[in-house]
Amino acid sequence: MTAQTSFFENVVRYVDRAAALTSHPPGLIEHIKICNSVYHFEFPLRRFDEKGQEYFEVIKAWRVEHSHHKMPTKGGIRYAPDVNEDEVKALAALMTYKCAIVDVPFGGAKGAIQIDPARFERDELERITRRYTHELVKKNFIGPGVDVPAPDYGTGEKEMAWIADTYEAMNPGALDALACVTGKPISQGGVAGRREATGRGVFYALREACAIAEDMKNLGLAPGIAGKRIIVQGLGNVGYHSAKFCREEGEAIIVAIAEREGAIFNPAGLNEEEVFQHRRSTGSILDFPGATNIPNSVDALELECDILIPAALENQITEANAGRIHARIIAEGANGPTTPGAEKILEDRGILVIPDIYANAGGVTVSYFEWLKNLAHVRIGRMGKRYEAAQERRLVQMVEAITGKSLSEKDWNMLSKGPDELDYVKSGLEETMVFAYQNMRETWKSRKELPDLRTAAFYIALEKVAHDYKELGVFP
Ligand code: GLU
Repeated sequence: MTAQTSFFENVVRYVDRAAALTSHPPGLIEHIKICNSVYHFEFPLRRFDEKGQEYFEVIKAWRVEHSHHKMPTKGGIRYAPDVNEDEVKALAALMTYKCAIVDVPFGGAKGAIQIDPARFERDELERITRRYTHELVKKNFIGPGVDVPAPDYGTGEKEMAWIADTYEAMNPGALDALACVTGKPISQGGVAGRREATGRGVFYALREACAIAEDMKNLGLAPGIAGKRIIVQGLGNVGYHSAKFCREEGEAIIVAIAEREGAIFNPAGLNEEEVFQHRRSTGSILDFPGATNIPNSVDALELECDILIPAALENQITEANAGRIHARIIAEGANGPTTPGAEKILEDRGILVIPDIYANAGGVTVSYFEWLKNLAHVRIGRMGKRYEAAQERRLVQMVEAITGKSLSEKDWNMLSKGPDELDYVKSGLEETMVFAYQNMRETWKSRKELPDLRTAAFYIALEKVAHDYKELGVFP
């Protein structure tokens, strides 16, 4: 955020840049930019101080639905102590463009509760979450065909399970009730692979970008993600899984990890799971064996590397540090980590920024699969697993008969097991991320007025949303 503009205004600036290249009737872009419904409410929470004295804490909460061009609207719920209405509006707007980029048929929304979850007991968090859901039900801001929340910063499967349970209790007998929220535990209607989906999506995005030799040459890098040195900011769900898949499947090297209390650096490579366990047991990421401490967390963004993955919060790459960033590629795991002022500097320096509305869309993509699963009332792949396994076995037997060679037992078992839910989710996510990257890059390269991938992404998203409004007959 620059001194003059808020997060929501920053998003509007990105939209305006892309909108200037479109030719839609007056008012249409204006209509797309605004948030359709903003619901702010407050409720009291009964608590007790150390002396056992009862008191009430008033909790501020929001749900913002940015665009209803497609229904339901979709987006996470954030629990953070300093979240505000402007931030929720910005995040809701980003959801609209994100869904459009990856062809997920939802409008954008976002919710927030202004609390630091660490200050509350588990049963208090449960009461807060259930009360929040209650308010959403009363005002028709939640429902499988209305608005479908999901996890975001500070929330996870536990909160989603409470939301689903509260919604079900308030809608007895509603057949599709579980589709009112995604990111649930698997036993409560969740889908395999949702937890790690955003990080997996970041990995697919990077793998795709790095596979294009021409672009890598322009950046002074060798093609391929293998061996690339990566800095990850944030060891939450997105940062942890981005690091894991880039390291395990991409064979990249995680040279630094930054968290609130500081960062650690080891050019020989870090293992995110070991770092996570170290942080859990010592309470800090610092003093990790073999790594150098970087006491000021933001300094880590400027370390020597090839790729930077900001996967924490918004406004991390600003005019103040953009000129000193070493990375040649930035993959935005977080929402809004780069300010428009910083973007200009990165662009002038020839850094490839893979924008948030594409790079972190893996989460909502798999949420879409979960929603479909809930509406279908069947585990993904249940009907076809055995059939496909039998087909694969037949094919292998034919090849064996023709070649006279036979597969090892291990390969045979692997080939003939048939796809399960996770296989389908991974394949659907990979296809989505690969296709969207190619589309975005082709658009960028084919129109010289598009300065970067972000503007190309907003341009594509705007065209899709505008097309929907026109088809709806709302605009000529
Ligand atoms: N909170 C995530 C995001 O910002 C996921 C949203 C969803 O799954 O609906 O994309």
